[in-house]
Amino acid sequence: MIITIDGPASAGKGTLAGKLAQEYKLAYFDTGMVYRAVGIETLLAGIPADNTDMAEKFAKELTFQKMMELSKNPSFRGPEGGKRASVVSAIPAVRAALLKMQQDFCKNPTFANGNKAQGVVYDGRDTGTVVCPQAEIKLFVTATAEARAQRRYKEYCEKGIKTSYEEVLNDINQRDKRDSERSTSPLKPAPDAIILDTTHLSIEEVFEKAKEIIDSHQKNLAI
Ligand code: C5P
Repeated sequence: MIITIDGPASAGKGTLAGKLAQEYKLAYFDTGMVYRAVGIETLLAGIPADNTDMAEKFAKELTFQKMMELSKNPSFRGPEGGKRASVVSAIPAVRAALLKMQQDFCKNPTFANGNKAQGVVYDGRDTGTVVCPQAEIKLFVTATAEARAQRRYKEYCEKGIKTSYEEVLNDINQRDKRDSERSTSPLKPAPDAIILDTTHLSIEEVFEKAKEIIDSHQKNLAI
């Protein structure tokens, strides 16, 4: 089974994807990591993230193993990593170079320990539209920019990352704009995606709704 979960920054995709992967015993691919990895490469090289030629070079040379190594960088999950990922992800050549690695994962999905899995939960922006349009279940998870900024601000505070709510909201608005206006694979729900607005829902409520959708899909297949 392949499940794709797309949507804007901080809508709750990662948490939902992780819970669904556990529930249905599927591998999990957080596709934002490929863009964060390239963003971190530009940071380590001391160059701006919009250096198209270098970003493309880093994308072409990225392997799964290298991505996991780069994910240990302290800036990987922080605001700098997010901002750089958003900038490099708007470069068409970077997206093209990173597509195969994302698509190959569902041909031979594995858990973090290397064991084989029977399917994948993808999370990202274009996983239901471009990476894996053949997915059986497509969810588009969204929430207002203010609700998403509140959640990310809380997360940064808990991690001890110094920032303000206004700064986080501003960053989210800029990332939404870049994600939805870029020429290649702009953020939009797949025509067959089910939209889940999480603005007024807890993580548990979102999880229950997603489970209902998946279970009813599986029941229909069994009939
Ligand atoms: O989801 P996450 O915040 O880790 O993603 C980092 C950035 O990578 C996003 O802001 C988005 O611009 C980009 N991205 C993308 N396509 C994906 C996943 C992430 O463009 N499938």
